[in-house]
Amino acid sequence: MSTCASCPEVTEDTIDHHRRRLLAGAGAFTTLMLAPGVSLMMAGSADAGPASEAASAKVRWGILIDVSKCPDGCTVCVDACKDENGWSAKAGSRTDPQWIRKVTLNDRKTGVVQTLPFMCQHSEQPPCVDVCPTGASFKRADGIVLVDKHTCIGCRYCMLACPYAARSFVHEDVRGQKPHAPRGKGTVESCTMCVHRVDAGKTPACVVACNKSQNRSMVFGDLNDPNSDIAKAVGRHLVTRIRADLGLYPGVLYQGL
Ligand code: SF4
Repeated sequence: MSTCASCPEVTEDTIDHHRRRLLAGAGAFTTLMLAPGVSLMMAGSADAGPASEAASAKVRWGILIDVSKCPDGCTVCVDACKDENGWSAKAGSRTDPQWIRKVTLNDRKTGVVQTLPFMCQHSEQPPCVDVCPTGASFKRADGIVLVDKHTCIGCRYCMLACPYAARSFVHEDVRGQKPHAPRGKGTVESCTMCVHRVDAGKTPACVVACNKSQNRSMVFGDLNDPNSDIAKAVGRHLVTRIRADLGLYPGVLYQGL
């Protein structure tokens, strides 16, 4: 049975309990946010808030990853994400937060082995948002899926709902936080598509780092803009959405799978 930050077991009763706490007024809300076990860095920038007011539905941010250019053993994107967002994971740990990871696909029929970076797929229809009892899990108008750490109660329903196992629970006290990427023990987190960079007109750190390397396997941009590099590449190549059968329409696309 899962546990949350303040209740030993997650049941309907405990969820109602959390809802009541959240609805109990601003004073209780502040207490919840600052309670032991939810030790957030209260960043002053707009990036720490729930959603950028500037997010526009005209834009659909996406990342295209050419798997044929992504060699086994390369962790440039993972390392860049760690540096940018202030998380770390011990080698082999199954519980440490991991916003992006390299996975290996082994086709038993052909014997072909491929490796690819894998993170929140920023789906058009994100199941994590559907199941979140507090609204902490949300999708911006531009398609970026986020967790508001200030309202996440750590129930981990979203982790169960995510078919990509892309979310992590923060078990330990957090050190070395970055002001633009607030994190907190007892909350859930995942790839933010570097929303703080995107809102500043920049490209996600993983994509920048990959393109500085010799591999250059990642393209970021607006899938709705026919003149963007990513939209042109999607038009030119056969692209794959992981578990397309689920009908979630991820914003992260793969080429060469
Ligand atoms: Fe629960 Fe996930 Fe929502 Fe946090 S974001 S409250 S862990 S469902």
